[in-house]
Amino acid sequence: MSKGCIYLVGAGPGDPGLITMRGVELLTRADVVVYDYLVSTRLLAHAPANAERIYVGKKAGKHTLAQGDINKLLVDKAKAGATVVRLKGGDPFVFGRGGGGALEAVESGIDYEVVPGITSGVAGPAYAGIPVTHRGLASNLGLITGHETPDKPDSDLDFEALAKWRGTLVFYMGVSNLERICTSLRQHGLDGQTPGALVRWGTTSRQRVVTGTLETLPQVARDAGIEPPALIVIGEVVQLRDQLKWFDSRPLLQRTIVVTRARSQASTLSKQLDQLGAEVVEMPAIRIAPPKDDQPLREAVANLEDFDWVVFTSANGVDAFFEVLHRAGLDSRALSSNRICSTGPVTAERLASHGITSDAQPEKYLGSEIARAIDSAGGLDGKKVLCPRADIAPRDMIDDLEARGATVQEVVAYRTIPDCSGAEQVADLLAENQLSWITFTSSSTVKFFFGAISQEKIRSSSVRLASIGPVTSGTLKEFGLTADAEAEQHTVDGLVCAILQAEESEGEAP
Ligand code: SAH
Repeated sequence: MSKGCIYLVGAGPGDPGLITMRGVELLTRADVVVYDYLVSTRLLAHAPANAERIYVGKKAGKHTLAQGDINKLLVDKAKAGATVVRLKGGDPFVFGRGGGGALEAVESGIDYEVVPGITSGVAGPAYAGIPVTHRGLASNLGLITGHETPDKPDSDLDFEALAKWRGTLVFYMGVSNLERICTSLRQHGLDGQTPGALVRWGTTSRQRVVTGTLETLPQVARDAGIEPPALIVIGEVVQLRDQLKWFDSRPLLQRTIVVTRARSQASTLSKQLDQLGAEVVEMPAIRIAPPKDDQPLREAVANLEDFDWVVFTSANGVDAFFEVLHRAGLDSRALSSNRICSTGPVTAERLASHGITSDAQPEKYLGSEIARAIDSAGGLDGKKVLCPRADIAPRDMIDDLEARGATVQEVVAYRTIPDCSGAEQVADLLAENQLSWITFTSSSTVKFFFGAISQEKIRSSSVRLASIGPVTSGTLKEFGLTADAEAEQHTVDGLVCAILQAEESEGEAP
């Protein structure tokens, strides 16, 4: 079973949602992932934490491995027994040099498999509102490399034939040859009024689309400063964009937003931001781990009847608590003698999934509010309260409960430990001033974030900070920074709302 295998996997055109299920499945069990610059780095999150991630370029001018060396790397890793996933932008066999990698595997006697991907030449136009075929407008589609210069004597491209194509032509890698491609098509008889478009970074938050005709497109592209990677789309179907464009109206397009939540929790926030058009960079500042010693939690669970109240302050706390409960052969009924407080709607929802409705829930996630909510739901004086929570949870809530006469037993239900994979990428993006927002969903994400990134880097860029509520904003203040947006509802939805509002009010500013 230790025999290695090379999987040539199409990563899709850029939107991380556009990879196949087979592709994701292979990523989840990869030992080695080899990827390049057209691949969304978000996809790497599917791979196991300890998988080796190898970036092989290629951004113009930056150092990269030569194609032959990449293929050799894949073969060597597979020979050593690894499950190797070679992630390729779009489809591996459409201008992806996937064939070369496959041949090399076959020659070396290594097993290999291809997972097709959605090619950018179809998906980019689709996200621009351009169907590549359309009844009455285009009955065929050509995928063409624009890398070959039309005037090269030994060019494989027959521009005479292309000009007679009477369908849609999609050129990959053609930006620097745009002028020559358009001229050549016209010289061979294609009408200069034929519509054309350029789609840059299609399907991603950075997508830009410009349109014109065969005559005007080169100038339009120059004026707009369109650079690679982009697709050139030529054909009558381009007209449909006026009616069919749908992606362009997302409010967070062209915004790059950092999500600092633990990876296991990041997805709801990331997905919402994605859906609104943002480019999401995940930098999980923390990781959730079991307590070093779970004896206190196990004991508390075994003696639940000793407590009047159990206070849950996070969904993680609920998860950890019920895991121990289940391991002890118990279920929700073990809490039948307790009153339950959940400190926020997400925690309440997680409790509800175990069939438990909270007896108290504060309006705000603040120690004083929590204590007040419990007090008015049955009194705290002389009561025993169990708080299963994070190892680094702040002390203030405990003080507030004790101030009202309760005896509080805190047990560590889970630990938050620094993760910070992705810190390098975030530091680079900050240095290039490419970030729009950094989101903080708890005090601990703030602390761990600034363990990896200096406040100075934030101050010297125009990035803005979004916080889930006053406690988290307070922690930002401790680091000398102010939240530019703070959620009114202390939930992920509230946080997204706060960002949208800040963006909107900026749009309205004179
Ligand atoms: N195998 C890839 C193509 C790789 S060739 C696929 O199937 O999509 C690289 C070229 O693909 C780029 O020069 C550009 O023309 C095009 N390309 C890839 N991703 C793109 C994207 N998101 N937006 C626009 N063009 C893209």
